[in-house]
Amino acid sequence: MERSYEIPYPELGSVLGEQEISVLSRLVTSGENLSGGRCREEFERCFREYLGVPHALSVTSGTVALEIAIRLLDLNEGDEVIATPQTYKASVQPLLNYPVKVRFCDVEPNTLNIDPGHFASLITSRTKAVILVHYGGLPCEMDSIMEIARRHGITVIEDCAHALGAEYRGRKPGALADIGCFSFHSSKNITTLGEGGMITLFDPALAERADRIRSNDADAVYREQARAIGKTTSAHPWMLHPGAAFTHDCSAIRYGGTNATLAEPNAAVGTVQLAKLGRLVSRRAEIAAAYTDVLKQYPGVRMHEGPEPVRHAHHLYTFFADPADGILRDRLVSRLDALGVQMQLRYFPMHLLAEWRARGHTAGECPVAERLWFEQQVNLPCHPAMTDLQVDQVVSRLNTVLGQEVRDTPIASGTTRTAEGWNR
Ligand SMILES: *Cc1c(COP(=O)(O)O)cnc(C)c1O
Repeated sequence: MERSYEIPYPELGSVLGEQEISVLSRLVTSGENLSGGRCREEFERCFREYLGVPHALSVTSGTVALEIAIRLLDLNEGDEVIATPQTYKASVQPLLNYPVKVRFCDVEPNTLNIDPGHFASLITSRTKAVILVHYGGLPCEMDSIMEIARRHGITVIEDCAHALGAEYRGRKPGALADIGCFSFHSSKNITTLGEGGMITLFDPALAERADRIRSNDADAVYREQARAIGKTTSAHPWMLHPGAAFTHDCSAIRYGGTNATLAEPNAAVGTVQLAKLGRLVSRRAEIAAAYTDVLKQYPGVRMHEGPEPVRHAHHLYTFFADPADGILRDRLVSRLDALGVQMQLRYFPMHLLAEWRARGHTAGECPVAERLWFEQQVNLPCHPAMTDLQVDQVVSRLNTVLGQEVRDTPIASGTTRTAEGWNR
């Protein structure tokens, strides 16, 4: 039987209310075409303005946004892509469909974001792109990463699924590199009624391709000299007529399109949710500050933070328990669980998933990510619908368990641990 927790790990990352109901009821009774695009264009315009990017294309999920972004790379056999192992599988899963080599880049021990030094060391002449995640809503060290990427002509894809509401040196994730991918799944900082996503881009040609891919159009290279090409291909004779209205032809179809457009009700809710983002993220920040105030009093507890002040979107509240200081993470998590605080540890290192091990990836490839996940990472429930009472309960239970109970003699590295089912 499912256990019920006093403080469950959140399934909902946002709060829906009267405003969403009101735009939905207006739309549903309006007789408007619910695939029409009016609400979609409005949502995309607001998103572009919020982020300060020239192109924002809404799609049906964050996974689809990443799939399309990866398609835009035109990956060929032998090309290489660098990616973070500390993420949800959707960031890297599309790469399984390409004959490319993936190099997982180890993370920094305090941020769980890719380590710029390790990133630089993985670059070869075949590197086409890097896929990074602003883990938990804490922006990556983008100035260093972009400097390295630009020097080597590498496309940078930001997976911003956690980072809506964050800021890095006055700019927002999704506007810090070449392509940004967002998710509006129920669990994220805003939702478009359960599923949804956005791709942000700077390059108009890439934006045009992405737009064609998401709207059932073949992703092709169009050539001006249509008639000349037409003569050598299987065009219908009418297409070659000097007075023909048909003015373009394709010389190379890259891919067929798909339909990944966001429906109007989802987009309309997206616009309302985006307007609430500031409040939703401030509530997350309040909860995070309450946890941090307690945790920082305990030796051996390390906060999830970078070397410089940035605006953390607090999609996840993460901290690290250091076994060298005698805090046993698994015991800490079981004690909190027994006290009604549910835990879901995020995320199992990608390179150790079966699908990546089947492609030759092995333990030891990203030692920092591995050590942190297996021994140190803890995620606490943190979402805007939590009540003050629930926040106080988490705080008092942290105080309880961080006393004597979780402390023990340090465990030797390499000790066998029993999996207790926290990896959900
Ligand atoms: C949620 C998430 C995704 C996938 O988004 P969906 O909208 O659920 O498809 C991708 N990357 C990360 C890091 C995520 O957290």
